[in-house]
Amino acid sequence: MNLFSTPISNISGVSDARLVYFQKLGIFSVADMLYYFPKNYENRMNVKTVHELQEEELATVTVRILDISTRRVRQNLTLISLLCEDDTGELKVTFFNQKYLTQKLTVGKTVTLSGKVARRIGYVEMTNPAVQKESPASNFSENYIPRYALTKGLTQGVVQKIAFECLKFAKEHLAETLPMELRKKYHLCELLYALENIHFPKGEEELSAAKKRLAFEELFYLMLGLGKIKLQQKKAMGPKLTNYKIAEEFAEKLPFPLTNAQKRVTREICADFKAGHQMNRLVQGDVGSGKTMVAAMAMLICAQSEYQAVLMAPTEILARQHYEGLKPYLEEFHLSLELLVASMKKKEKDRVISGLATGETSLVIGTHALLYDKVQFHKLGLVITDEQHRFGVKARSVLTEKGENPHCLVMTATPIPRTLALIIYGDLDVSVIDELPQGRTPVKTRIAGEKQRDKVYQFVVKELEKGNQAFVVCPLIEESETMELEDAIRLQEELQTTYLQDYQVGLLHGRMKAEEKDAVMNAFLKGDIQVLVSTTVVEVGVNVPNATVMVIENAERFGLASLHQLRGRVGRSNKQSYCFLNLSDEKARKRLEIMEKTTDGFAISEFDLKNRGPGEFFGIRQHGLPSTVLSRLSYTMETVRAAKQAVEFFLANDPDFQRPENKRIFDAVNRMFSRHHYASQL
Ligand code: ADP
Ligand code: MG
Repeated sequence: MNLFSTPISNISGVSDARLVYFQKLGIFSVADMLYYFPKNYENRMNVKTVHELQEEELATVTVRILDISTRRVRQNLTLISLLCEDDTGELKVTFFNQKYLTQKLTVGKTVTLSGKVARRIGYVEMTNPAVQKESPASNFSENYIPRYALTKGLTQGVVQKIAFECLKFAKEHLAETLPMELRKKYHLCELLYALENIHFPKGEEELSAAKKRLAFEELFYLMLGLGKIKLQQKKAMGPKLTNYKIAEEFAEKLPFPLTNAQKRVTREICADFKAGHQMNRLVQGDVGSGKTMVAAMAMLICAQSEYQAVLMAPTEILARQHYEGLKPYLEEFHLSLELLVASMKKKEKDRVISGLATGETSLVIGTHALLYDKVQFHKLGLVITDEQHRFGVKARSVLTEKGENPHCLVMTATPIPRTLALIIYGDLDVSVIDELPQGRTPVKTRIAGEKQRDKVYQFVVKELEKGNQAFVVCPLIEESETMELEDAIRLQEELQTTYLQDYQVGLLHGRMKAEEKDAVMNAFLKGDIQVLVSTTVVEVGVNVPNATVMVIENAERFGLASLHQLRGRVGRSNKQSYCFLNLSDEKARKRLEIMEKTTDGFAISEFDLKNRGPGEFFGIRQHGLPSTVLSRLSYTMETVRAAKQAVEFFLANDPDFQRPENKRIFDAVNRMFSRHHYASQL
């Protein structure tokens, strides 16, 4: 029996009314439920008294409620504060946005709470702990109670029970997918055991064995799918492009020498062009490493061989910048370069589109507007996507389908350690520009606590006095775009009326229309605005060489990768630039210290990988991969490497998935990729 085609409604306890809620969670089949892993567990093993609680540990305490207060902080934020005690000490508890708890919790009641402990002076604190029900559903392990991500209409108790029922069902019907040799070689437990223990772990060891197996399995299928696509692509023939001389002529016209890394990557691209098969190459290069010039040379070579080339950027600002920047150079070669963005007048757009269709126009730079159906090419030879993580793979394939196996170049400034890049971009070859142009002065970075905020803005004023400009970034608030916007507006007003009253302070945020954004950005470029307050929209490749200061407010809310990207907006000229990371939570200082120590994006990402594990990298932006449970499991680098090795072995022995004993694996890979446009390529 196939558990993927057995509807969850076959399980007793899933009524028609409940079915809808399960489907909301993406659970349609029994297998979906089995793979709907808990987001965490209540650990009843670690039962302690308040006095015994240790900083940072996950623990369970039973306490009496002495006092409850509810406070609405702002529109979307309600706090419930409890004061509790047991015989050994006081515990303060805070819940964010869990108003429904007020019905459950009353003064005088005894409750059991599980959560992370913070020790303060004189008392102990827990934030958003799990409140335990009096008696958990029977039958399963009492030590770890799974907690699932829920939707309105479902309770932990219901999902726990259904998960338990599904496991009972699986006991009879579940088939192992990974062959015995593989499990032996990499010390992986059986599938049923893994699923039982990911939902209802018997203990710490069983849980980690389960995680290891499931993480391996997931990575194995993922890399196998990507590896297969890559093999397939290798077979596809692409345009043969051989006019490299033009790239040298172009390089001679530049006001600066190319870096060795730029030259090397260009050679790697040329080798692909020459080989005749379709290129699928990722160029990774830190911010400011000069990826655009490499793209320009590839475009030139392509046009010289009478093919068309397209460069797609994620924002209009960026597309225009590329266009303005490259136009003077490309025109010297008498090649027609056009811009195509949504905000252009219809007539103008039509003109560009017709030029592309007839082949009169050989090079085009643009945004998503390039994806429109009516944009067709005469003879498309090269597709380049800049800052590719912003698009996902989908956009790329829409563009490539406008030609016949055109070469594909994707550029990203998100440095990912090589080992991981090989996985995340498993279907691509990877080139790295690991060198910055000469003469750049590294940005000086300082972490500033709340008390130093005055000093930071006094420093900004000094820079403005010299005629330089500044970015001020306020963080993304994931829970609420409205709150994010309010924050940005408040900050702009604050700065304009206090520290920076003698200067023009502009505002840029995600809710603005494209034209409004462009207008603000242009004013900043021209210097009419000296300070730009923005949400994280500036993250993507904007070039304002005159900006020498970057202030990041609430820096603790950012990941290192984002901070690094943001910092890359300054330090783009030969002037000394500065970056201030303003903290309102001192606890984050330690994590951010690496930013003061280095400006090397690869070093930062290696550090991040070591500290937080590869799961984070998968989590950040999905990178256009099939939507899987990635990032819900914590991967170790060891598992990543093991899966990689297993995939290589598998592909070497059965590249076409022909062997009957591998059918289950093939099915699993197909399933993973099936809701994804990749499916057609497998
Ligand atoms: P990124 O890799 O972040 O996309 P860009 O291509 O925008 O970087 O380049 C950043 C700046 O460096 C641009 O102003 C570009 O003209 C300049 N640049 C590119 N290559 C070199 C080089 N070899 N030497 C000096 N400056 C360069
Ligand atoms: Mg760039």
